[in-house]
Amino acid sequence: MEKLINDIQILDGTEAEACETVRVSKKTNTGKDRKLYIESYGCQMNFSDSEIVSSIMSENGFDTTSDFEDADVIFLNTCSIREKAEQTVRMRLSQFNGAKRKKPELMIGVLGCMAERLKTKLLEEEKIVDLVVGPDAYRDLPNLVSEVDEGQKAVNTFLSREETYADITPVRLNSNGVTAFISIMRGCDNMCSFCVVPFTRGRERSRDPYSIVKEAQDLFNKGYREVTLLGQNVDSYKWSPEVNNKARLERSEVSEIVNFANLLEMVAKVHPDLRVRFSTSHPKDITDEVLHTMKKYENICKCIHLPVQSGNTRVLELMNRTYTRDWYINRVDAIRSILGEDCGITSDMITGFCTETEEEHKDTLTLMDYVKYDFSYMFFYSERPGTLAEKKYKDDIPLDVKKRRLSEVIAKQKETSLVRNKRDIGKVHKVLIEGRSKKSAEQLQGRNTANKVVIFDNEGQQKGQYVNVLVDDCSAGTLFGKITERENDL
Ligand code: SAM
Ligand code: SF4
Repeated sequence: MEKLINDIQILDGTEAEACETVRVSKKTNTGKDRKLYIESYGCQMNFSDSEIVSSIMSENGFDTTSDFEDADVIFLNTCSIREKAEQTVRMRLSQFNGAKRKKPELMIGVLGCMAERLKTKLLEEEKIVDLVVGPDAYRDLPNLVSEVDEGQKAVNTFLSREETYADITPVRLNSNGVTAFISIMRGCDNMCSFCVVPFTRGRERSRDPYSIVKEAQDLFNKGYREVTLLGQNVDSYKWSPEVNNKARLERSEVSEIVNFANLLEMVAKVHPDLRVRFSTSHPKDITDEVLHTMKKYENICKCIHLPVQSGNTRVLELMNRTYTRDWYINRVDAIRSILGEDCGITSDMITGFCTETEEEHKDTLTLMDYVKYDFSYMFFYSERPGTLAEKKYKDDIPLDVKKRRLSEVIAKQKETSLVRNKRDIGKVHKVLIEGRSKKSAEQLQGRNTANKVVIFDNEGQQKGQYVNVLVDDCSAGTLFGKITERENDL
C-alpha cells in the first residue's frame, strides 16, 4: 500500500495533510470465474460506493483481488473534487498500459465523479479505458461489462433522482470487522460555488430508514460495533414512504417524514453497544434537535464534522455556503452548551478562494482559535470546471499565496489539536478496540467517543471490545494511556 501511494505520488507537501487517500480491494476467494480489482479515490462516499459495486459484481461472477496483475477487470472509482485528484487517476491509468499490453482482454473501467464529469470525453482522452460509469449507474454494470466483453466500449452516466442502492448489501472491502460505513443519502442540493459534487452526484435523495436500520442490525449481528452514517449533508436527510427526492418531497403531501434526528434515534436503538457516528454536517442545517438526540443516547458518539471552509462572512457568501461567521459561531456555541466542552468538533478549510484578502484569511485563523477544532481536512482552492465559482469569479490568488495560507492553517490546526488532546490527559475514556497498534504488536488501538485514536498496552483484550483507558500522554494526533478499572468520566 505504501508503495502504491508512492507510485502514484498521491502525497506531496501540504496536500499530504489533507484527505487524499486511495484504497485497494481485498482478496476474496469464493470460487467465482473472474477477478475484479478496484482502486478507490477520494472521500468515504466513494469507498462505500466501491462496496456496492463489489456486491453487484459478485452477484455477476466476480471475486475481488488486491493485485491488479491478477485481475480480469480493473475499476478506478474516481474523485473530481480537486484537479490533483483527477491528475492522479490519469497517471494511474497510464501505469496500466503495460498490464493491458500483456493481457489485451483486460477490461479497464473508470467509475465515480470523474466518469460523470467527463462522460464520453474520457474514452476519447484515455484510449486504455473501456468503460465509463457514473455514480448512479452501478446497477447497469453487468450489462456494461457484457458490452465490453463483446468488443464495444460502454458508457452510462445517467444521474437518477431516486437511486439509493437501498436493497444492496455492500461487500466490505477494507473492513477491520469492527467499524463500517452506511450510506444514508446520495447527491447534494447545495450549490457551494467551489464544489463539483452537485454536478457529479446529482440531486439529493434519502435512503429508506428501515433499510438503514436493517443494515446496522446485520452489521451488529456480525460483530461490528460502530457504524458511521454517511452523506454529503446528513442534517438535511428527509425521507417519506411516497417520495425520497428532497426537492420533490418538500413540494409534496406525504404521510410520514423521517428527519435526521429521527433516523439517528432509530439507529441508536439497534443496540446500546453499537456506536453511531455520522458525517458530514452542514452548519446551515444542523439543528438543536440533532444535538439533543446525541445527548440522549450514550452510544451516539460525541463528535461533529462541521466544515466551515472559511472564517470570513464575505468569503462564505462568495462560496455560497449560506451562513455567516456569526451563524457558525452560534452553532458551535449550541454544541458546547448542549453536549459540553469535550464534544469533538472537526472541520474542512479552503485557503485562497477567489479574491480572499490577507485579512479575510486571518479571520479563518481567528475562528480556528475560537472553535479549537480537534482535527481538520485542509486544502488550497482548486478551480473546477463547470462550478459556479469557475463561471463567476477569477481564480486570482497566486498558488504560492494559497499554499502559504494553507501552511498557516495547518500550523494552527496542529496547535489546537495538541491543546485539545492535552485536555484529555488524566481522564478515563471509553475506547472501542479496532485492532493492534500500527507501531507495536504489544499495543492495541481504538477510538474514544470524540473519534480520537487511543493507544494502550494489550492486556489480552480483543478487537471489538470496549475498554476504559486512563490517558496519560498525547501527541497532536494520538492519545496514549493504560487500561483502568475506573469508570469513564467523559
Ligand atoms: N459535503 C461536505 C461539506 O459540505 O462540508 C464536503 C464534501 S467535499 C467532498 C469535501 C471537502 O473538499 C469540502 O468540504 C471542501 O473543503 C473541499 N473542496 C471541495 N471543493 C474544493 C475545491 N474546488 N478546492 C479545494 N477544496 C475543495
Ligand atoms: Fe459540495 Fe457544498 Fe454539497 Fe458539500 S454541501 S458536497 S461542499 S456543494
